[in-house]
Amino acid sequence: SKAKRFDQDTDQKVNFDDVAGIDEAENELVEIVDFLKNLEKYTKLGGAAPKGVLLVGPPGTGKTLLARAVAGESGVPFFSMSGSEFVEMIVGVGAARVRDLFRVAREHAPAIIFIDELDSIGRSRGQYIMGGASEQEQTLNQILTEMDGFSSKEGIIVLAATNQPDILDKALLRAGRFDRRVVVNPPDKTGRIAILKVHTKKVPLSEDFSYEEIAAATPGFTGADLKNLVNEAALQAAKENASNVTSKHFMAALEKIVLGPERPILLTQ
Ligand code: ATP
Repeated sequence: SKAKRFDQDTDQKVNFDDVAGIDEAENELVEIVDFLKNLEKYTKLGGAAPKGVLLVGPPGTGKTLLARAVAGESGVPFFSMSGSEFVEMIVGVGAARVRDLFRVAREHAPAIIFIDELDSIGRSRGQYIMGGASEQEQTLNQILTEMDGFSSKEGIIVLAATNQPDILDKALLRAGRFDRRVVVNPPDKTGRIAILKVHTKKVPLSEDFSYEEIAAATPGFTGADLKNLVNEAALQAAKENASNVTSKHFMAALEKIVLGPERPILLTQ
């Protein structure tokens, strides 16, 4: 079949400048970048780098972005798959894809492998409700086999994202597999300001625009939410034929996002 087996991204456009407001998580990954950039220095002294790092946090906080940025900063290719894509109906397909993913990445080492939504294949075995168990078990077993099958000296780092670390099969978390955890929390107000700055780089803002005001009005917003807000505000400004985007446009966009799109009220009586 012509189905896309996995994503390969060799032109790294993303780096740490694109990631904001999650500094703690970013700082924990600087070590991985340093390792990938100086493989020889580390392996010569017999040091073993982590093979797998679990990025834990709610959707939209920037886990995928962060993984791409690690590859970009390290100057290594990025190979990715989403756990939900592994959930195939035909037994054996998921395992074959995992095998291919690791094989190709190892051919291009040093490299980053990223598995998004690890929980959709990595939930503990024997917990499946309706069928499909053996397929998912095979896929999970293949990940475990691949994690054990390479040495960190090869320069392969596997990053995986989940928002449900508790349901993961314990075998995934053992030493030599995903034995490191980096928490990616939704940003605080300072973080939201930093993220808004990243996403308004190319947006003409009015002189009285206040990052502070918008960040204060968006508690709980993730990076993905803020990106969407900037986009909505720009659309709002365009709709009004404004020459730049003001705080008022942001507030109108915010209202629209929080309240949802206008819906006609249906009277049924
Ligand atoms: P999911 O768990 O749903 O995959 P995620 O945590 O991986 O979500 P991303 O897919 O990386 O989130 O985020 C979506 C988009 O939102 C990113 O491509 C980026 O444009 C923006 N974004 C998210 N977090 C940040 C951040 N911390 N800094 C800058 N931009 C961000």
